[in-house]
Amino acid sequence: MRFDVFTLFPSLLTSPLQSSILKRAIEAGRLSVVVHDIRDYASDKHHVTDDLPYGGGGGMVMKPEPVFAAVEDILNEEREAKSEGPLHTPRSIFHIPRPPIILLTPQGRLFTQAVARELAAHERIMLICGRYEGVDERVRQFLATDEISIGDYVLTGGELPALVVIDAVTRLLPGVLGDPGATLDDSHADALLEYPHYTRPANFRGQTVPDVLLSGDHAQVDRWRREQSLRRTWERRPDLLPKARLSQADLEFLARLAQESAGGVSSSPFD
Ligand code: SAH
Repeated sequence: MRFDVFTLFPSLLTSPLQSSILKRAIEAGRLSVVVHDIRDYASDKHHVTDDLPYGGGGGMVMKPEPVFAAVEDILNEEREAKSEGPLHTPRSIFHIPRPPIILLTPQGRLFTQAVARELAAHERIMLICGRYEGVDERVRQFLATDEISIGDYVLTGGELPALVVIDAVTRLLPGVLGDPGATLDDSHADALLEYPHYTRPANFRGQTVPDVLLSGDHAQVDRWRREQSLRRTWERRPDLLPKARLSQADLEFLARLAQESAGGVSSSPFD
């Protein structure tokens, strides 16, 4: 899978792509991230990429021309490779097959595990990172095909959000994680939070690992994990439960939890 990232600060993307799982995914040829410096596409002598907002007010706004030029140049590269003619006007972008062109913005649809899964189905994705007050509205209207926010807070730029998207999507690509089933149990994979994990030592400062995990009884372990997962979700993110696929046994377990809490019995796993 290939990501093209358009940014004014390419160096912000460097280090996270050079470590751990993303680095390995790139080396294994499963992921490619090509970072494009929007400044290279500013046509004037001083490579100006931002300007004052019309209507006044503080802050700077990213100019539309360099952003359009950068994205179109990369789209044209691909069209040339396929012996298709170049694009002529910005609007013509909407009449050709193109990869998702995602604008990172706090005003976009919220990035969730389901959106990550949706994006992982694409061969190629373009990510546009804003800075300052954001990008000229015409980028959103006539260039971007999608808008994504990583949460209800405002950052200084779209580079960290772009990395968040790349990271979450890459984890889902086949062959990236050592264990192919690893993402199935993850928190949010099925609207439930994941069960707790333990590793050696079995006794750490007097705190022991639950016996069931040492029992070697896989059915018991599975049941314990499922119940922990349900309990955590019920305690921490009850808003997720209606979206989860629950068996009869799950529903009975949740009913027991509700009864316990109504009876004043603490249900915290830390007690
Ligand atoms: N004035 C804008 C925010 C600009 S923040 C507004 O109120 O909507 C500057 C840039 O950071 C944005 O253009 C966007 O690319 C990025 N950004 C900030 N917060 C973000 C978030 N929660 N999700 C995705 N991108 C974000």
